[in-house]
Amino acid sequence: MSQHEHVRVAVIGSGFGGLGAAVRLRREGITDFVVLERADSVGGTWRDNSYPGCACDVPSHLYSFSFAPNPDWPRTFSGQRHIRAYLEHVTDTFRLRPHLRLGHEVLMARWDNDELRWEIETSRGTLTADVVVSATGPLSDPKIPDIPGLAAFEEAGGKVFHSARWDHDYDLTGKRVAMVGTGASAIQIVPAIQPEAGKVTLFQRTAPWVMPRMDRAISGAERWLHRRLPLTATARRGLLWGIRELQVSAFTKRPAQLGLVESLAKANMAKAIKDPALRAKLTPSYRIGCKRILLSSDYYPALARPNVDVVASGLAQVRGSTAVAADGTEAEVDAIIFGTGFHVTDMPIAERVVGADGITLAEAWKDGMESLRGATAAGFPNWMTIIGPNTGLGNSSMILMIESQLNYLADYLRQLDTLGERVALSPRPSAVGAWNRRVQARMERTVWKAGGCDSWYLDANGRNTTLWPGTTSEFRRATRSVDLSEYEVVRARSPRKEAVR
Ligand SMILES: Cc1cc2nc3c(=O)[nH]c(=O)nc-3n(C[C@H](O)[C@H](O)[C@H](O)COP(=O)(O)OP(=O)(O)OC[C@H]3O[C@@H](n4cnc5c(N)ncnc54)[C@H](O)[C@@H]3O)c2cc1C
Repeated sequence: MSQHEHVRVAVIGSGFGGLGAAVRLRREGITDFVVLERADSVGGTWRDNSYPGCACDVPSHLYSFSFAPNPDWPRTFSGQRHIRAYLEHVTDTFRLRPHLRLGHEVLMARWDNDELRWEIETSRGTLTADVVVSATGPLSDPKIPDIPGLAAFEEAGGKVFHSARWDHDYDLTGKRVAMVGTGASAIQIVPAIQPEAGKVTLFQRTAPWVMPRMDRAISGAERWLHRRLPLTATARRGLLWGIRELQVSAFTKRPAQLGLVESLAKANMAKAIKDPALRAKLTPSYRIGCKRILLSSDYYPALARPNVDVVASGLAQVRGSTAVAADGTEAEVDAIIFGTGFHVTDMPIAERVVGADGITLAEAWKDGMESLRGATAAGFPNWMTIIGPNTGLGNSSMILMIESQLNYLADYLRQLDTLGERVALSPRPSAVGAWNRRVQARMERTVWKAGGCDSWYLDANGRNTTLWPGTTSEFRRATRSVDLSEYEVVRARSPRKEAVR
């Protein structure tokens, strides 16, 4: 990157969000853009999460771009390797490589009120951009809790890593492993490592609800059909989408209806867990759906194996090589694996963005993340977040939400063009406030708020700033186009200083 390079759009991140934005920009005829990615390859989530057993929990035919169908998904729920390969394929098919700036971590981005553009400092130089699309991912910066004694455990030769930073050089054969956490990653990891580990102790702060995962190989005949008659793949996707749309009202309006699903989940557990004491430990005490419903057909059978212990309490400290739970239970361990999630409501990029008023996005969001239609934030002109506040889903594919946001991005850029040279859009605080009041009012009835659990969907103030309380079609409609009355049009006062290309 040459010093002071200027681009129309800088995209940050190369997961589904960043690559999707890049494809959309090209389709809109915009080629003056770069994709800044801190890692040395594309893929985001699906590059970083390579733990044993890693796979999507939304069927592949829905968990993929509508504009890049893949007739050859090998399984109904494909594994990490195949999803990563799909994203590499998308990068090649849509000729995105020339736009990629791999190994470019965004360290700071500052809005220039005179020039009406973003000055972006990366680990490999500075550039400016009229518009920034921030697709750094809600689940991309791993969180490891501050556990007393952990550093000393590591210094003494103990092994510690996070599920999203798996150490493939560390051989787990015969090892005594502590698995901390019972989220979507942990329930895939435990059955995958149980056969080779000497002992697995699972530290469970809260029991998850787990439903069977209807995973199977997609037959050669089905793939042939999808290749020869692409409409069949579209129909399959439509069906998967429609079923999930119909489920939404139970999550958002009528949590009591989920009682039936609880019975199915309990029956799923009872089939594998015969010991009543273990069953009691594994039975959640909150309404199903309040935390993400997990899908696995091998989690409970793995927990019933003799080399697995479930401790119904979180890891509180490590003393020497002893992992100690909050309830005092102890386990001797060689390795501690954290499946403890990510910085979601405190996303690190927010610390690195300074807006029109000279404050960071993190400061602007100190009482909770807020944006207009999940994308733009007051005081941060021409900055758009992909998978911003309240765009997450509890039961369907995030790619649907990303594609809605790409519609909004495309219209945003079109409107900017129509308004002329050197113009920026800044969402009106009143519009942001009104949008968030509507979202939060709807949130009150949802199972995520009323279901009696504490989850990563909630921020430090107990507000759900992560999930969308409606159907994906409602979000699609809300983001079809940019309503200019929700924005202040900012115009430059002086002619632009020449940028060096
Ligand atoms: C294990 C796992 C399984 C999942 N399964 C599903 C599923 O089945 N269905 C579903 O809908 N969702 C699933 N998700 C959620 C998933 O994160 C989203 O579906 C989607 O992949 C997010 O894409 P993204 O591009 O927004 O973010 P990411 O894929 O996280 O990509 C963000 C990118 O930004 C880069 N980046 C971050 N900060 C910077 C910086 N400062 N400078 C430069 N680059 C930066 C990162 O390196 C990364 O490449 C899963 C998540 C995980 C962790």
